[in-house]
Amino acid sequence: MTDKEVRKVTRKILPGPLIVATHNPGKLKEISDLLRPFGIEPVSAGAAGLIEPQETEKTFAGNAALKARAASLASGMTSLADDSGLEVDALGGAPGVLSARWAGPGKDFRHAMARVEAELAERPGSDFSARFICALAAGWPDGVVQIFEGAVEGHLSFPPRGDRGFGYDPIFVPRGFSQTFGEMEPQMKHAMSHRAAAFRKFVESCF
Ligand code: IMP
Repeated sequence: MTDKEVRKVTRKILPGPLIVATHNPGKLKEISDLLRPFGIEPVSAGAAGLIEPQETEKTFAGNAALKARAASLASGMTSLADDSGLEVDALGGAPGVLSARWAGPGKDFRHAMARVEAELAERPGSDFSARFICALAAGWPDGVVQIFEGAVEGHLSFPPRGDRGFGYDPIFVPRGFSQTFGEMEPQMKHAMSHRAAAFRKFVESCF
């Protein structure tokens, strides 16, 4: 099924258990917090004994669909998967869908943030504009998935600041603010993030 086809499907999600198809603890927490007010009991992919599929697609939407479909087919439950990342304009949109991989096998985001800084230093005078993108995929046990996308624009700031959030949060300053996502109260990030924007579309469609 192509990304275009999956966007056409409209299905509802009933209160009860739902697999949050991620092995990333930061995403698991943010998505579980967003789901609870809707009577959903989040079950992590780890707790459901699901293996993490290879992210072989070239787009956030494609990878989110792949993860949700795999989780729902394996568990027989509805699922919600997130594929997200940081796009830096001066780096041609990198790290993009490779955002997690820039942290290396040890998933060390200090290393990933240092790589972004080093690659920008090789391009003196370039602007630091960037955005986070999130594609959420809702999955059903018959293999149907539906995609919802959100973005938040901003710029990068070095050195990293703040120990809240996860991933690249300490270097991302959303447009109109001076704090990084790593410094902000979680509720403040939740109100404006790429994930929250995608989540609003998911809620409008599926509840
Ligand atoms: P993936 O979707 O599993 O490929 O991983 C996406 C990666 O993008 C995460 O591991 C984070 O490094 C980064 N990322 C996605 N969303 C956020 C966010 O809200 N804050 C900081 N980093 C993020």
